[in-house]
Amino acid sequence: MRIGGTDTAAEDDRWIPVVNPATGEQVDRVPEGSADDMDQAVHAAEDAFSGWKKKTLRERGVILFHAAGRVREQHKELARLLTTEQGKPLRESLDEVRGYANILEFYAGISAAQQGEMIRLGMIGDALVTREPLGVCGAIIPWNMPVLIMGWKVGPALLAGNSLVLKPASTTPLTTIRLAQILEESGLPPGVLNVVTGPGETVGEAMVRHPLVKKLSFTGNCATGQRIRELAAGSLKELTLELGGSDPMIVLSDADIDKAVDGAIRGRFYNAGQTCTAVKRLFVHESIAVEFSRRLQQKAESLKLGNGLDAGTDMGPLNSAIQRERIEKLVDRALDTAQGTVLTGGTRPEGAEYSRGFFYQPTVVSDVEKTSSLLTEEVFGPVLPVVPMPDLDTAITEANRTSYGLGASIWTSNLHSAKRAFDEIHAGIIWVNRHLTVPPEVPFGGMNESGLGRENGLHALESYSRTKTLLLGW
Ligand code: NDP
Repeated sequence: MRIGGTDTAAEDDRWIPVVNPATGEQVDRVPEGSADDMDQAVHAAEDAFSGWKKKTLRERGVILFHAAGRVREQHKELARLLTTEQGKPLRESLDEVRGYANILEFYAGISAAQQGEMIRLGMIGDALVTREPLGVCGAIIPWNMPVLIMGWKVGPALLAGNSLVLKPASTTPLTTIRLAQILEESGLPPGVLNVVTGPGETVGEAMVRHPLVKKLSFTGNCATGQRIRELAAGSLKELTLELGGSDPMIVLSDADIDKAVDGAIRGRFYNAGQTCTAVKRLFVHESIAVEFSRRLQQKAESLKLGNGLDAGTDMGPLNSAIQRERIEKLVDRALDTAQGTVLTGGTRPEGAEYSRGFFYQPTVVSDVEKTSSLLTEEVFGPVLPVVPMPDLDTAITEANRTSYGLGASIWTSNLHSAKRAFDEIHAGIIWVNRHLTVPPEVPFGGMNESGLGRENGLHALESYSRTKTLLLGW
């Protein structure tokens, strides 16, 4: 496995510090790779591709299965590493590490069931249709869920027989490197999986531009996704882009209110709100909106903010100072123009224990104007805007009033209302009486500005391969 720039970094002193977001302290460093390191990694992947492609699906699946087992054995160490670089509470890191193992096991499990097809063509003959891998694939991973999102890309790409180059986010490279090592320790041949650390603008763009890279899977910011699309436009590279969202959650008056309050709290404050499918806009029927907001406020105030490594922490810091500044600006702008009422939060927490990390309080804002930037922009942090709605029609119209289309949820006991939300809201996944959950079996991806293509499930496996037909004229 290549870890970008290791040799040159020592000479040139080019390193990226990895900082614990709860303390602001440097915990490690990784080489600041270059475009040349990316080129070498892509060539290493190209060299390894033909051998990996020749292995049977079952052989590849067994390696994924062994890797999942090792991840399960080491889940506590991996979760600590993830919390240290990302900031989330340890129990969320444990969930994420187990989620990664689930993904590898899912793809290992379906490996034996993958078959080709035979098409009988009468007088013409018979056609045999198989699937073959694409070649070298590239994956760019964000910092919000680096372990899970690595699994979404590595599982189907490797099972399908591709070799891969990964570019982790510069704030969260450590777990990616460790998980890649575990795959090699589990039998993945050298060169099949490569990790290059370094800035997106240099090593990321070098990957996107590289002529040997046949497919790119990117998760992150819309503007970065758009840039990647432009850079790849001159080539015939396949693209999967998962670009975030502004998920609506609609709560009707016939919902189980306790369950819906818990769902909104988890949906918004899990991972300090830094989740692409977080609840970013909450529409509550006006008959229950005041009571609902009161309960949200109470629950948000009871969340224990702290270092993710400490027992009892419910919400950690934001991943970086830049992310916190983005949230502060958005909230301040909305409040300066009187677009809502802050019920709780809206500022950094006070206290010595918070002074060096990138903490921001769980925030609930009620009576939010429809035009507020809290609704029109993706708020990637712990801020929950609550908007009262007179009826389902209005809620659906407002839910669709965004350029995003990743996920949406409706909370109701009425099947007809749920079906209407499913039919009429523009989003890749609609939950009923749930939010956030994305199991490996289920295709995941957005509509509109939320992206292109699907991750997870059989759909992702297909996207990492193409059909090849043998026509036998008898
Ligand atoms: P980015 O899109 O900049 O970062 C995501 C990944 O892309 C990182 O690995 C990054 O590397 C890499 N990258 C950055 N620029 C380029 C480039 N020009 N070419 C190729 N790769 C690149 O997201 P940010 O960290 O700036 O986050 C900003 C916002 O994006 C968030 O506030 C949120 O709204 C959204 N976001 C959404 C996510 C989702 O899950 N949908 C995940 C993360 C962010 P490096 O770290 O070295 O810059």
